[in-house]
Amino acid sequence: MSESASRDDTALEPSAARDFIRQRISQDVEAGCNEGRVTTRFPPEPNGHLHIGHAKSICLNFGIAQEFAHAQCFLRFDDTNPSRESEEYVAAIMRDLRWLGFDWGERLTHASDYFDKLYEFALDLIRQNLAYVESLDAQQMREYRGTLTEPGRDSADRSRAIDENLDLFTRMRAGEFADGTYVLRAKIDMAAANINMRDPVMYRIMHKTHQSTADEWPIYPMYDFAHGLSDAIEGITHSLCTLEFEDHRPLYDWFLDHLEVPSRPQQIEFSRLNLSHTLMSKRMLNELVTQHHVDGWDDPRMPTISGLRRRGYTAAALRDFCSRIGVSKSANNVELAMLESVLREHLEHEAPRALAVLDPVKLIVENYPEDQEEFFDAMNHPGRPEFGQRQVGFCRELWIERADFMEDAPRKFFRFSIGREVRLRFAYYVTCTSIVKDPQSGQITEIRCNYDPESRGGGSSDGRKVKGTVHWVSTRHAVDAQVRLYGPLFDDANPGSSRHVGPLSERLSDSSLEVRDGCKLEASLLDAKQQQSYQFERQGYFCLDSKLSSPQRPVFNRAVALRDGWKKQGAAR
Ligand code: ATP
Ligand code: MG
Repeated sequence: MSESASRDDTALEPSAARDFIRQRISQDVEAGCNEGRVTTRFPPEPNGHLHIGHAKSICLNFGIAQEFAHAQCFLRFDDTNPSRESEEYVAAIMRDLRWLGFDWGERLTHASDYFDKLYEFALDLIRQNLAYVESLDAQQMREYRGTLTEPGRDSADRSRAIDENLDLFTRMRAGEFADGTYVLRAKIDMAAANINMRDPVMYRIMHKTHQSTADEWPIYPMYDFAHGLSDAIEGITHSLCTLEFEDHRPLYDWFLDHLEVPSRPQQIEFSRLNLSHTLMSKRMLNELVTQHHVDGWDDPRMPTISGLRRRGYTAAALRDFCSRIGVSKSANNVELAMLESVLREHLEHEAPRALAVLDPVKLIVENYPEDQEEFFDAMNHPGRPEFGQRQVGFCRELWIERADFMEDAPRKFFRFSIGREVRLRFAYYVTCTSIVKDPQSGQITEIRCNYDPESRGGGSSDGRKVKGTVHWVSTRHAVDAQVRLYGPLFDDANPGSSRHVGPLSERLSDSSLEVRDGCKLEASLLDAKQQQSYQFERQGYFCLDSKLSSPQRPVFNRAVALRDGWKKQGAAR
């Protein structure tokens, strides 16, 4: 984005031609098509929240508008099915788009803005004897349609006279008929090899209140009819959609060919993003929400933009991800691990550091005076001095990570074990002396150690080496918090696959959420900002949960763990 913002907008740079769609647009611009104008659109149906797959389409459509001279992108709500759509989704989509960093300016439209024009187009096709009113029901129409190997059959209504069609269609529009009595169909070819061309439905009757047009329309246009014509009305030059619409392109073109349209858009298809261990179908995501398997559309495990934001993803990381996965016609199956590694790369650079203990056990520094406390300077980011410093409090009793102590530790375990010396991050060298166990459970309740006052700040006066550095939080300066650790919602790499027959709930992983209460954070995290991720040293990247957190009781989400940080240490055991 910053790249395109700084680029002068007089000419198309070669880098803009980095995928087949941008190449095609470049060629069109060079050939003088549409007077060099480029107009794209992002056409969400407001029947759910946007997901990471939509982000790919958004970055493509709005990205092109930013990169090319004389280019713009519309946000058009494809609101042709009032039974599934709502204002709440419209608002959520706009919020997510803005957060992603894109701006549609004045170019906010709705397919419903064109209902009058679309109706006129339909009348025009009827007058040309290219559309007719059908009385078969959905089941009968399926039977008449034929199969991939057999042609369809004409229904009796196919030969209905033009005047009668006009009469019936205007009465459909006037609301005279009940849902399902009639549909309007395009009259193309019931024997077409492409089933989409076998007289597809253009309008159905639906007595349903629409979120923008209220009760004005008892009939609603179908996607295939409305979409290309809305493109033509808006002056879209390149209508970019996913590959499942490839077989619909002849129909897209057929409507444009047979009507007097103000402009002539072309449809270009690219492959949709599939992310492993993730579902991208709004219908299925909606099921997770309505059946309460997740905490709403913005649950941090959801692949929605709102969920990823709540989880701790940044808009820049998502845009970067979309740019790296590219745009082509070949399958775009991407590992969830790649999305996480892009986030890690961004946060490594962006996130201030902090100390937090997620599974605390007490460490008592026996030779440290009980009434004493002190503060250490801690860099907020090792590579970015401009992030400044903070003070980390220290006292005789600390919290450390339970897993940082081992009783019978192998030689290469460079953390706490009796008789071994370790460095407390920013503070002192300490040598572990003894442990206290709960007599009943056998669990360690306390680890005791002595510190070397000469090692203040983490170095020794005699030059002796200490290999391990562990994080800690002072009990006197700690903040209690809940920390939520997330894993994929599904264990299966392809949970949306048609080979799954049972309900969605059976595919859910039982380890996608681990809630840890009583975690101990350094006090500076009391000032943590919403939407700001912090690296909890040695653990991962965390941010405040926008819904569950309060000043009295911070709740942090783990956006992503550090790259095999623990694995490396585990290997050293
Ligand atoms: P879903 O199957 O999730 O309901 P959809 O295609 O019905 O998605 P729309 O709101 O119609 O959802 O999508 C708006 C735009 O986003 C369309 O142009 C669509 O092609 C694109 N899009 C949807 N899913 C993906 C994806 N996984 N990868 C790339 N583009 C996508
Ligand atoms: Mg759709």
